[in-house]
Amino acid sequence: MEAVQNEKGQISIHTENIFPIIKKFLYSDHEIFLRELVSNAVDATQKLRQLSSFGEFGGELGDLKVTVSLDEEAKTITVSDNGIGMTADEVKKYINQIAFSGATDFLEKYKDKTDDKGQIIGHFGLGFYSAFMVASTVEIVTKSYRENAEPVRWVCDGSTEFELTTAERAERGTDIILHIAPDSEEFLDKGRLQTILNKYARFLPVPVEFDGEIVNNTTPIWTKSPSELTDEDYKTFYKELYPMSEEPLFWIHLNVDYPFNLTGILYFPRIKNELRFQREKIQLYSRQVFITDEVKDVVPDFLMMLHGVIDSPIFR
Ligand code: ADP
Repeated sequence: MEAVQNEKGQISIHTENIFPIIKKFLYSDHEIFLRELVSNAVDATQKLRQLSSFGEFGGELGDLKVTVSLDEEAKTITVSDNGIGMTADEVKKYINQIAFSGATDFLEKYKDKTDDKGQIIGHFGLGFYSAFMVASTVEIVTKSYRENAEPVRWVCDGSTEFELTTAERAERGTDIILHIAPDSEEFLDKGRLQTILNKYARFLPVPVEFDGEIVNNTTPIWTKSPSELTDEDYKTFYKELYPMSEEPLFWIHLNVDYPFNLTGILYFPRIKNELRFQREKIQLYSRQVFITDEVKDVVPDFLMMLHGVIDSPIFR
């Protein structure tokens, strides 16, 4: 394997200064940086599991896990995984080029669109770069699962320049280290991070640890087969989603493959007051990542009266 030369370079992008634009366009929903980074980390572990099942990775999978950590003193938030990691070439390809070309298209398309800010980012895979909504400098320390892979560090301070150097990392996987910007220090708060994780990571398919605890249920009931489930399971899940609601009248477990893949559970609630009706909404997920409960433009009106979850890759 070729040694990594210490390297500096220009990120391939046409817009000279993308980061101020990212900040400006997406200011209403800064918290989703954590959703984007944690779901990338989850993807990285799932890719490794897949490679292993194809026989392309012969090593030990170990306990696949994502860890979020907060260092208030250093003013950093770190998202770590023990997934596939990246080689230097992959960092160049996936971080420097691909994501930025995606970002450029995205900005071209949405330059004049000032509403719906929160949702666009997920839909267009700005993904990793949403880190710059809250961080002044982002570091990646990563080591590929491949044999004899050299660990590398990528650092970018929000200009269009990056630095790529060799790094120390014994185990395969990736750390994304966010050096939180002065105007985003609200995120250097344990309670705040817990709230965000509870919103977006609650049902992710790989264990996510924060502050010594696993924050998610990796197998929510909509991912299971109805034949494994009892009425009690459905009612318990309903209570989990809507703790203030009465028992539902009945429910439907969705499992659709055509014309697109969609799973979920729709509950028919008892009639209740208008206020609660507005607050308790259907939640949309994409492969167990929470996307939104602002479903007005997404689901037909008659479904607005229902509760529950819908999960489909088309929401991303
Ligand atoms: P997307 O996830 O939509 O592809 P991103 O900008 O979020 O876009 O990420 C770009 C690419 O960088 C990913 O497709 C993946 O190849 C790589 N990547 C990002 N985070 C990680 C990670 N934690 N581990 C391994 N690869 C990653």
